[in-house]
Amino acid sequence: MTGKQRRAVILAEIKALGPVLPGSIVERSTRCQRAGCHCHADPPHLHGPYATWMRQEGGRQVTKTLSDDEAQRLRPLIAADRRLRALVAELEAMTVTEVVNHQLIAPQAVGTQTTKAGKRPTKGR
Ligand SMILES: [Zn+2]
Repeated sequence: MTGKQRRAVILAEIKALGPVLPGSIVERSTRCQRAGCHCHADPPHLHGPYATWMRQEGGRQVTKTLSDDEAQRLRPLIAADRRLRALVAELEAMTVTEVVNHQLIAPQAVGTQTTKAGKRPTKGR
C-alpha cells in the first residue's frame, strides 16, 4: 500500500467513526462525608467501585460518576476517540517521514526543533 492509499484508508475510517468522547472510564472506590460511615472505619470499607468518567478540561481533571447504563453507553464513544487519536498520530507520522525523506526541510532544522522542545539544553549555538 502506498502512503497515498494508506492516507485514504485512514481518512475513510475517520469519516465512519461517529461521536468521539475524550477521557477514560475507570472504576473508583470512594469515601463519603458522613461521619461514622463504614467507609471511615478501620479497616475502611469503601463505597463502590463506581464507574467514573475522567477527562481533562482546561488543564484540570473533571470526574463524573456514572451508572452502569451510562458507562456502557459511553465506552464505545471513548474507544472511538482513542481510535481517532491513533489514526491522527499515524497521519502525522506519515507526514513527518515524508517531510524528512523528501528533504522539504534541511536536516539540521529537525535538530533545532528537538532542542526547542526542551529535551536538551541549547549549548554552543
Ligand atoms: Zn461512607
